Amino acid sequence: MAGHGLCKSTKNIMKVLIYVFTVLILVSCSNEQNITSEQDLVKDQKYNWRLVTSWPKNYPGLGMAPERIADLVEEMSNGQMKITVYGAEEQVPAFGVFDAVSSGSHQMGHSGGYFWKGKVPAAQFFTSVPFGLTADEINAWVNRGGGLELWREIYAPFNIYPIPAGNTGTQMFGWFNKEINSLEDIKGLKMRIPGIGGEVLKEAGGIPVTLPGGELFTALQTGVIDATEWVGPYNDLTFGFHQAAKYYYYPGWHEPGPMLELLINKDAWDSLPKHLQVIIETASKAVNQDMLDEYLAKNNQALTELVETHGVELRKLPDDVIEEFRIISNRILDDLASKDETIAKVYTSYLKFKNDVSAYHEISEDAFVESRNK
Ligand code: CA
Repeated sequence: MAGHGLCKSTKNIMKVLIYVFTVLILVSCSNEQNITSEQDLVKDQKYNWRLVTSWPKNYPGLGMAPERIADLVEEMSNGQMKITVYGAEEQVPAFGVFDAVSSGSHQMGHSGGYFWKGKVPAAQFFTSVPFGLTADEINAWVNRGGGLELWREIYAPFNIYPIPAGNTGTQMFGWFNKEINSLEDIKGLKMRIPGIGGEVLKEAGGIPVTLPGGELFTALQTGVIDATEWVGPYNDLTFGFHQAAKYYYYPGWHEPGPMLELLINKDAWDSLPKHLQVIIETASKAVNQDMLDEYLAKNNQALTELVETHGVELRKLPDDVIEEFRIISNRILDDLASKDETIAKVYTSYLKFKNDVSAYHEISEDAFVESRNK
């Protein structure tokens, strides 16, 4: 009896175990089905986003960067995500991009952080500041030196998630109808030069003017301005500045390596499945480098054409003028940092990185290029 009883209770235990096991399998299957159907949903959902820019549609370099990001994202996502790119003024003004993305009227934007200096003064450090980081250096600071975390922190209150997305490399100081032989020649010089560069010119005695790219040729030709900066040979040739000014001055101390930005509305970003976020980040990273390569490859061809075909006079700024600009720039940046806590935080990180990387470049790239070019 005892044996039979034991056998019966074993059978009961077995029944319970089989029941529990079956329930577990059923629950597990139903979870799997849920996960599968959620994955199917994410897999099938199409995303059609709009991207506004500060550049003319399909403008060489600047305007093509967001087009390339859109193409890459569509191909990498196998058509799941389609981004339509709009040129400046097509949907919002050139300088309305930040607000459009912040408000969510558009999911994405492509622009330069220094345009928002009135709203986010520290944003300038993520594009370019006078005598600041070159393209390679700002890439290293942003991607590997703590810059990106600071950038996302200062854009967070505006509900914007920034991603690095292009660089023109070192720009030219620009086009002049007057020779610059000494600091005296800066006095009263009317020049289109935006941002902190403009403030530096002002302190040196010049008159900075802010005008959109499309108005520069006429302003220069009619004498409304004496000089203008824009980008570099590749872009400047397309605007035909050589027909309106005689002298082409370098170096572009005011924009040593401006980084452009892909702006994404944070709510829109958070709504994306992880794999599309990775695709967007990867596409932007590819274009960030590709644009720099494009400028480097095209700038020299364009410069040769400007000098040899169009007779442009290429001039280097006198050393004492550059020295004065550098002293004023550092004073202005220190002053900005002393008045604004956020700028102070960003500038401290930026400056430390600049000092470290300059010290290393002195014994690596700088020393090598100097020996190679002798
Ligand atoms: Ca410029």
